[in-house]
Amino acid sequence: MPTLKDREVGIFFWAEPDAQAALKAVKQCGVVSGQLAIDGTVVLNEATAQAWREALAAEDFHVCTVFAAYTGEDYADIPTVERTVGFIPRDTRAEREVRTKEVIEFAASLGVKSFGCHVGYIPHDKSHPDFVGVRDMVRRIADFAATHGMTYCLETGQEPADQLLEFFKDVDRPNVKINFDPANMILYGSGEPIAAFRLLREHVISVHGKDGDWPDKSKPGSLGCERLLGEGSVDIPKFMAALKETGYTGPICVESGVHGEANRWEVLSRAVGILNSLR
Ligand code: MG
Repeated sequence: MPTLKDREVGIFFWAEPDAQAALKAVKQCGVVSGQLAIDGTVVLNEATAQAWREALAAEDFHVCTVFAAYTGEDYADIPTVERTVGFIPRDTRAEREVRTKEVIEFAASLGVKSFGCHVGYIPHDKSHPDFVGVRDMVRRIADFAATHGMTYCLETGQEPADQLLEFFKDVDRPNVKINFDPANMILYGSGEPIAAFRLLREHVISVHGKDGDWPDKSKPGSLGCERLLGEGSVDIPKFMAALKETGYTGPICVESGVHGEANRWEVLSRAVGILNSLR
């Protein structure tokens, strides 16, 4: 395993069929660690796990978190996110629980210590059947992750920090943690990211390096727009200063959807450079 620094800058990347080629491409951006995302189409079996284990060893690459995304999720706008993302949709809740456990087992077989995903929009009313259903599912998944010695990270964005904190208390599981995404707070209009980070700080074990602008208030239900790192409303230098000031030493992984396939690696490399200059 490579030696990692405090606030090690890595990349959030999606699993591709050729594990070693994927890692080589990521490493070209100047990183030795990152977060591996598994979408709903990735076939998870022993052959897949073995290929990733061998590639990680060959490339001396560290995965700090395995993320899951689910077939049918759509981030077009807020009503669509509410309808399709995470554990909220009732029709897919049971199948996503099965899939989540498969992703956790896959992550554990790679020796990864953390799993993460978007839970989706959690109802505010604690007696709402979807609140109860999702809270109980989060508990079951956290307990399953714990049997593998893993944490379960909730990704921020879809609710204000105080509501997420309240949900934490309701879930009441010691291995449930937070992957803090400063841009998501802005994109979903959920609150100023640095204040949110400070409020959630004690639970944060990983961070996304992402930037964006607030939603257009004249278009209710719209999401904000993601920007190149350093060009959005997060205020990346101030955010990085807040990480240091609060003693955060965990990973910071560049997550970017602002690029075409052609300039993908250039965009990611530039973002890695910016974060490394500020870490
Ligand atoms: Mg994120």
